Amino acid sequence: MNLKALRHCSYGLYVIGSRKGDRLNGQIANTVFQVTSDPPTIAVSINRENLTHEFISESKVFTATILSQDTPVSFIGHFGFKTGREVDKLTDVNYRLGEARAPIVLDHGLGYLEARVIDRIEVGTHTIFVGEVVGADILREGEPMTYAYYHQVKRGTTPKTAPSYIAERKEETPKMAKYECTVCGYIYDPDLGDPDGGVDAGTPFEELPDDWVCPVCGAGKDQFEKV
Ligand code: FE
Repeated sequence: MNLKALRHCSYGLYVIGSRKGDRLNGQIANTVFQVTSDPPTIAVSINRENLTHEFISESKVFTATILSQDTPVSFIGHFGFKTGREVDKLTDVNYRLGEARAPIVLDHGLGYLEARVIDRIEVGTHTIFVGEVVGADILREGEPMTYAYYHQVKRGTTPKTAPSYIAERKEETPKMAKYECTVCGYIYDPDLGDPDGGVDAGTPFEELPDDWVCPVCGAGKDQFEKV
């Protein structure tokens, strides 16, 4: 059995929102898919340990904001590497409450789906929530983020198959070392820099400012190790 085959499954990237009473939360998930068209239903797989799981279980509603391809990794990291148990992830984020009074994230969203849970399936560590769509709209035009784009382009972990502009930059400065965040696994690739964080391509890790932090999880430079 070669589980690497799973890496060839393609996905999008979404902020899944929910609520518990008046408390709101959101998290990143790649596991949203349409189940039926009449009535329209969607499903999402959520880890049972996540706060969002608790919220969806309680309120039986969830939203899925479809992220655009130009979403900064820091925004994805904010929703993906922090827990709503410690911070209110929706502070400083533009959102509105939809039909189900769950948060629809407006920053970097191309569109959204709102659903009321009609069934759930327990699968070991995760629960698949199936929901009937009760609200949906396009927010703006753009290319949706795919899980592959996030990993290959935003994190630069598979340079040989990355788009040409990355390959060109790699040839200009081939010898600088990559550094990996020991907290979240983000790879700082000097050939790519950190454009979202104002760091130009071609900047060696050693020359990053002392207050530079991991764009995904916010860890400091001292949490990085040479690859
Ligand atoms: Fe990190």
